[in-house]
Amino acid sequence: RFITLEGIDGSGKSTQAQALRDALEARGIEVVLTREPGGSPGAEDIRKLVLEGDPDRWSAESELLLFTAARRDHLERTIWPALAAGKVVICDRFVDSTRMYQGLSRGDLRAKVDALHDLMIGIEADLTLLFDMDPDLGHARAKARATAEERFEDFGAELQVRMRRGFLELAAEYPGRFHIIKAGRDIAAVSADVSKVVMAHLA
Ligand code: C5P
Repeated sequence: RFITLEGIDGSGKSTQAQALRDALEARGIEVVLTREPGGSPGAEDIRKLVLEGDPDRWSAESELLLFTAARRDHLERTIWPALAAGKVVICDRFVDSTRMYQGLSRGDLRAKVDALHDLMIGIEADLTLLFDMDPDLGHARAKARATAEERFEDFGAELQVRMRRGFLELAAEYPGRFHIIKAGRDIAAVSADVSKVVMAHLA
């Protein structure tokens, strides 16, 4: 099974992805935890090309192509082999992030994102957990842990609100796949919810 975690920056996806891996492994389930952009050596190189250095180096379109190339490599080298071996794959961000970042915040490219996805990737997650929370809180968290190397987008308040709404609208487009997690609570409460939803899905 293929499980993806999505949401605005600072919504706690990475922490919860690790907690979920630990919870599944404790039940004897084989898990591969991976992330995007990245998740394979080639895709990690592309991550550096896009997220480090001058943020204006790429246009929205060229960035979309780079992310799609990274995703294809990630799929071939990491995701497909793990799924073929019967493992549960947990991926911290996947195409829904591209639908939002390249499709909404960085350009109006949603139709192109979907066309490229159909052409070159083709797979959707079986289950997507959307970590939904107050964007001001997410923003403060993301800013606090931002590194000097990687791009940190200081979205204005208006765009943060649009991103949150965008993710919720995306969830409504794929009602069978998305599950919304209230991510503004303490870590243990959120991870208990995440485990419950995922165990029900795997049952
Ligand atoms: O999830 P993570 O914090 O590693 O993502 C790093 C950054 O990559 C995000 O803040 C976002 O700006 C960017 N990103 C993007 N397009 C994607 C995925 C991530 O621009 N499809």
